[in-house]
Amino acid sequence: MPTLHFYNTLTRKLEVFAPINPELVTLYTCGPTVYDYAHIGNLRAYTFADTLKRTLLYLGYKVHHTMNTTDVGQMDSDADLGEDKIMIGVRRAAERGEQVTAMDIAKLYTEKFIHDRDSMNILPPDELTPATEHIDAMIELIKILKEKGFAYKTSRAVYFDVSKFPTYTQLSGQKLEEQLEGVREEVVVDPEKRHPADFRLWQLDQPNHSMLWDSPWGKGFPGWHIECSAMAMEYLGETIDIHTGGVDHIPVHHTNEIAQSEAATGKKFVNYWLHNEFIRVNNVKMSKSKNNFYSMKDIIDHNFSPMDLRYLYLEAHYRFPQNFTWEALQGARSARLNVTEQVAILLTVHHDQELENIENHELRNKFANYIADDLNIPGALSVMWEVVRSKELPGSTKLALLLDFDNVLGLELEKIPTIYTKFSLDEIAEIQKLLDDRENAKKSKDWSSADELRNHLTQKNVRIIDTSEGPVALLG
Ligand code: AMP
Ligand code: ZN
Repeated sequence: MPTLHFYNTLTRKLEVFAPINPELVTLYTCGPTVYDYAHIGNLRAYTFADTLKRTLLYLGYKVHHTMNTTDVGQMDSDADLGEDKIMIGVRRAAERGEQVTAMDIAKLYTEKFIHDRDSMNILPPDELTPATEHIDAMIELIKILKEKGFAYKTSRAVYFDVSKFPTYTQLSGQKLEEQLEGVREEVVVDPEKRHPADFRLWQLDQPNHSMLWDSPWGKGFPGWHIECSAMAMEYLGETIDIHTGGVDHIPVHHTNEIAQSEAATGKKFVNYWLHNEFIRVNNVKMSKSKNNFYSMKDIIDHNFSPMDLRYLYLEAHYRFPQNFTWEALQGARSARLNVTEQVAILLTVHHDQELENIENHELRNKFANYIADDLNIPGALSVMWEVVRSKELPGSTKLALLLDFDNVLGLELEKIPTIYTKFSLDEIAEIQKLLDDRENAKKSKDWSSADELRNHLTQKNVRIIDTSEGPVALLG
């Protein structure tokens, strides 16, 4: 197997991947804020994490993958005095005349997220953990930070003191002043706050929030960032191998995760930081605030499959922005249906054979080299097409390679509805007979009977494709 390389945001270099424990890679992904439907930009972040995980598994690693759901504490602006997004969800429901609690909202949109995730064939994490179930762990972490002098309390909140953490801007590589654009005026909101970059660990000044917990500093609720430190450490340990998220998380959320985790443990928090670039619309980042977003419902309303979106996302490297257009999605659908049909044919022809061993096949190595090179999935797709289009490879080898590649690509190529899936046994027997008759007619050069039999099959919604390995019947 090739050596795995990742581009590490922390070092801004392509690095050889060396896990702490080669037997079990630890992976943490920042999950959704469950106050509304995810938009398809968010789904790129999870598709990217999925290809990363599938790549690790394909190359022989075991993976422990944790993802959080944010169900408290993320404000609608990075400045401290926004509205908690979950409360926005509650308010919007009330405007629609629904009386729901914050927990109802979180539960509902967690289910919607799981549905979207599954529809794109994204593997579930080992844990999908809500922030609200880890409040004690967050309080413990904040206590340690206070004891070690990294945190201070004002009448409004407990803050992390960034001046105590000299490598605070290492991940972003920015100057602190640049990083602060937009949060400056916030100093005025809390005159006791020492530095504008100090961020909230525990919030005390929103007594009307519907989710409040007791703490050593008073009744309140956590700041957003502390949840990921607490949960990553609880499930994966104090130092983890890989942490993923979108590039928007680099300057604030992930920077803060590093500061509070490393200040508390004195150990490195994450060895490899991997970040996906944005899905854009007309070259502007897709986001709720710009109102230029689509959700999975829009994809389905346009008669696309979630798997078309998956294919579209595989076409771009995760570190490059990708512009979303309906034309591009149409192209992805055609490509996906094309490979799906090729595999359907191969599966039908070879359904009674055992799969060939392709472990040392040259094209398998080529595929593995692409994915090991910082997840070059577009390159991996090109190898898939090389297999599909090859005139030399026997069908059985093609099938074995394509199903093997699909462990990484996740296109569900093995789930193809062939003729055998939707017809009754009697109908299959009848169709088989028509197929045989047609073959015999062709053999005796009785072309008009052969054509007639084909029409007969077409009326049954069965399409005959003549392949080099014999005729194949497909539905539709
Ligand atoms: P959020 O729910 O806002 O925390 O976002 C969930 C994930 O989606 C995060 O990893 C974000 O960085 C990522 N994300 C947000 N917008 C986009 C976008 N337009 N394209 C790709 N990823 C995004
Ligand atoms: Zn996070």
